[in-house]
Amino acid sequence: MATSEGGSRPGHRSAAMAALFLALFSAWLLLAFALTRPAQALIKPAPIDESLIWPLSGTTIPDATMSSPFGPRWQASQHRYDYHAGIDIAAPLDTPIHAIAGGTVFKAGWLSDDAGLGVVLRHPDLGFYSAYLHLNSTPVTVSQVITQGQVIGYVGNSGTTNFYHVHTEIRLTATDYPTSTRNVMGYLPRPDTTTPTIQIASLQSDPIYSPTVSLVITVPRNELDLNRLRVTLQDRATAAVIDDQFVDFNLRVNTGSDALDQDGIRLIPGHFNTSTVEYVITGTFYALSALDSFTLTAQAIDLAGHAGRVSATAADTTPPGRVTSLRARRLSPSSIILSWVAPGDSGPVGRAMVYGVRYAHVPINSDTWYDATILSDPPEPITAGLVQQWLVALPVADPVYFALRATDDEGNVSPVSNSAHALWAISLPVAFKAY
Ligand SMILES: [Zn+2]
Repeated sequence: MATSEGGSRPGHRSAAMAALFLALFSAWLLLAFALTRPAQALIKPAPIDESLIWPLSGTTIPDATMSSPFGPRWQASQHRYDYHAGIDIAAPLDTPIHAIAGGTVFKAGWLSDDAGLGVVLRHPDLGFYSAYLHLNSTPVTVSQVITQGQVIGYVGNSGTTNFYHVHTEIRLTATDYPTSTRNVMGYLPRPDTTTPTIQIASLQSDPIYSPTVSLVITVPRNELDLNRLRVTLQDRATAAVIDDQFVDFNLRVNTGSDALDQDGIRLIPGHFNTSTVEYVITGTFYALSALDSFTLTAQAIDLAGHAGRVSATAADTTPPGRVTSLRARRLSPSSIILSWVAPGDSGPVGRAMVYGVRYAHVPINSDTWYDATILSDPPEPITAGLVQQWLVALPVADPVYFALRATDDEGNVSPVSNSAHALWAISLPVAFKAY
């Protein structure tokens, strides 16, 4: 999946260009789609370009001393969380930095107090820019033509940083920073064999409130390409998808202090440095749709499309509430109208699945329920709290009592309702009401 499209083979340059244009154009379309329809959009992972090289090794062998991944991170030097627009690779002072691809120098010099001394290369053939920040010095100047592998700078500690490293970045455009940055790991050559590990750390569910799930995702340090966390909620009884939420690291950027807590998803990346074996991140989804009984599937998806999956179910063990409002009124010598306030699926919430209604010559309670006679074809339950009515033919001669129970979609059965004695619906004269 990672290399299924966009690979530029020598001798097929125009075809490769066309493919690249198509890929970029469709990526733009998908991006626009993602911004308007976040719940359903899917961003195809960027193809890994086998023709690129790593900035420090100058080869296709990945630089091993990565100190910060792309995306959500704990920024140790600032003691805060942020979205990292590139990858940091630690190296000794003045280690040469190689152009990952040929191009021209777009910027060279002091870029900002954060970026420090940096170089930005323009790669028109590839459709992106590469940036190298926090340099100690650079031998290149703006507009200079650069060949792949050429030394364009030396590792330093300039700008907002407190250790020697090169911050390497891919930008799709020159100006839309940081929204145009993309995970470098989707471009530089690397092995991609593992699937992110995902576990459910906690799952809180309540029949009334929305569930909250915390996920712990782990990827090894040589595959720092975690791209997406996704949670899908399905109705356990019908399998219908009720909610589908995700966060796409390639599309998230810093928006201030809430950068890692947006749209009902909170991310807490673990600390990471050159000696960390794994990148660990906790993702908490806390604005999922309320559902009393569900199957939750969580996925951690990397840039190659490898998806770690875990699922859990929450069963509904709360029965519908007991009906205490059942009334039976005689409309005529042969018909009765039953009315009651509909119970919910779980307690007073939602909608029950089916009613059981019975009648008997004596009041009905839980002890006598099974002695009473079933009244067939009761109406379907309506939403909790609404009054529903059922017109029935008088099943037996007076006296007659009615009672009902409600069952939810998980088979939980409510207690037997109050027992309603059929009374004439017409108002009696005041004198008769006195006693
Ligand atoms: Zn950085």
